Amino acid sequence: MGPYAPCQTGGETAVAVSDHVDFNTFMEGVKKRNPNQPEFVQAVQEVSEDIFDFMEDKEQYHSQQILRRIAEPDRIVSFRVCWEDDKGNIRVQRGWRVQNNNSIGPYKGGIRFHPSVTESVLKFLAFEQTFKNALTGLPMGGGKGGSNFNPKGKSVREIMRFCQSFMTELYRHIGADIDVPAGDIGVGGREIGFMFGQYKRITNEFTGVLTGKGLEWGGSLIRTEATGYGAVYFLANMLAHKGQDLVGKTAVISGSGNVATHAAEKIVQLGGKVLTLSDSSGFIHDPDGITQEKINWVKDLKNVRRGRIDEYVTQYPGASFTAGKTPWGVKCDVALPCATQNELLGEDARTLVANGCMAVSEGANMPTDLEGVHIFKAAKILYAPGKASNAGGVAVSGLEMSQNSGRRAWKEDELQQMLKDIMDGIHNSCLEYGAQGGDYIDYVKGANIAGFKKVADAMLAFGVV
Ligand code: NDP
Repeated sequence: MGPYAPCQTGGETAVAVSDHVDFNTFMEGVKKRNPNQPEFVQAVQEVSEDIFDFMEDKEQYHSQQILRRIAEPDRIVSFRVCWEDDKGNIRVQRGWRVQNNNSIGPYKGGIRFHPSVTESVLKFLAFEQTFKNALTGLPMGGGKGGSNFNPKGKSVREIMRFCQSFMTELYRHIGADIDVPAGDIGVGGREIGFMFGQYKRITNEFTGVLTGKGLEWGGSLIRTEATGYGAVYFLANMLAHKGQDLVGKTAVISGSGNVATHAAEKIVQLGGKVLTLSDSSGFIHDPDGITQEKINWVKDLKNVRRGRIDEYVTQYPGASFTAGKTPWGVKCDVALPCATQNELLGEDARTLVANGCMAVSEGANMPTDLEGVHIFKAAKILYAPGKASNAGGVAVSGLEMSQNSGRRAWKEDELQQMLKDIMDGIHNSCLEYGAQGGDYIDYVKGANIAGFKKVADAMLAFGVV
């Protein structure tokens, strides 16, 4: 590890530029400044492990405290969200928007509604988003927002009232050239519609302030599919680099939401066989393969009927349901974690490797814990971190912003080609910075360095701000 100049490790002491510290001291400072924020510390550590090596001979990044500055959000807005449930009870939730870094474009990143949302979770997501957005090659900074609101079991009217209340505060912090949120866990087209309607009502403006909009009111074709499709394009790129493809390969996928179902769809289209899907109650295993018809049934179950994944086995009796478990014990050629953070732990990574899994492409954000990342790297399997492999969603969001600014709508085949080109570009960036000699590519390192360099160089141009 190379030297590094801390700014203030404990929040009080300014340290002279010449007092460079090593990676461990830097991380101690991060932990001290962010107590009780394990997800954020984990994300910073995963990136910093690679960046310290890269910075070793680059004095300008040290002296300008670039990594230290990226790991401190530009601002965090936290606010109360009051709403009334169907029984007339007043409910109080907390909302946040973390604006991490806008060096290369307006803040951009999703909104998550889930009871597990905390400031730490949103800080990690906004930090990751900063590098991911840079990797797309589009002018977007990094942000993330959300609430600990649980949409499960709520009526449509309750969700509408919550979204309106959330936007009644958020609207003053966002804008088409300031910060452009999108969907994430618990926030799909319906919720984006409610929030966009409220933004429009308050401001009397019709601008591209949110992405993931409906096609009739400024949305982009293939935005819904883009994250899952992109994760599979990236996987196909990694395999192609090894002279392989997806035909006949078995895939284990977690989640059954937007990313998981579209990843499954693209695997099937490219000739692979999908064996599993999951939700927070457990996973289903269908040894016959989850076909397009079955995927459509799952989409309807989750998006329209708002059901649970165990209902799959009633519909398709050849499948089995395992309660309370993740699917990583099912033998497969490729794995795509597409549910949530830290859903694939060290022991799961060991099992996948032992079972002969040759490639992992993350659809979710930070689904693999640090131990798992180290196991995949040590085994030298093809392993794509989410910031590279799931960037297709935000990339098409960036294209939605361009279409809104230009008051135009591109055709589906044009957008499909742009998405493919962007995923190819990210893969090439990973090759450029992640080649390790021999034919091993460290995709984590490649993505971290390529994303960091772009943001860091912009920050250098701006001086100390
Ligand atoms: P959805 O809300 O559509 O689906 C989420 C899925 O993950 C559901 O099956 C859900 O199960 C499951 N899940 C959520 N939380 C947990 C948990 N704590 N434990 C187990 N399972 C859980 O979200 P998306 O598909 O949009 O997002 C999935 C992941 O992809 C997230 O990490 C998100 O940040 C990431 N991502 C999404 C993008 C997008 O464009 N949507 C873009 C880039 C990344 P249940 O129904 O039981 O809650």
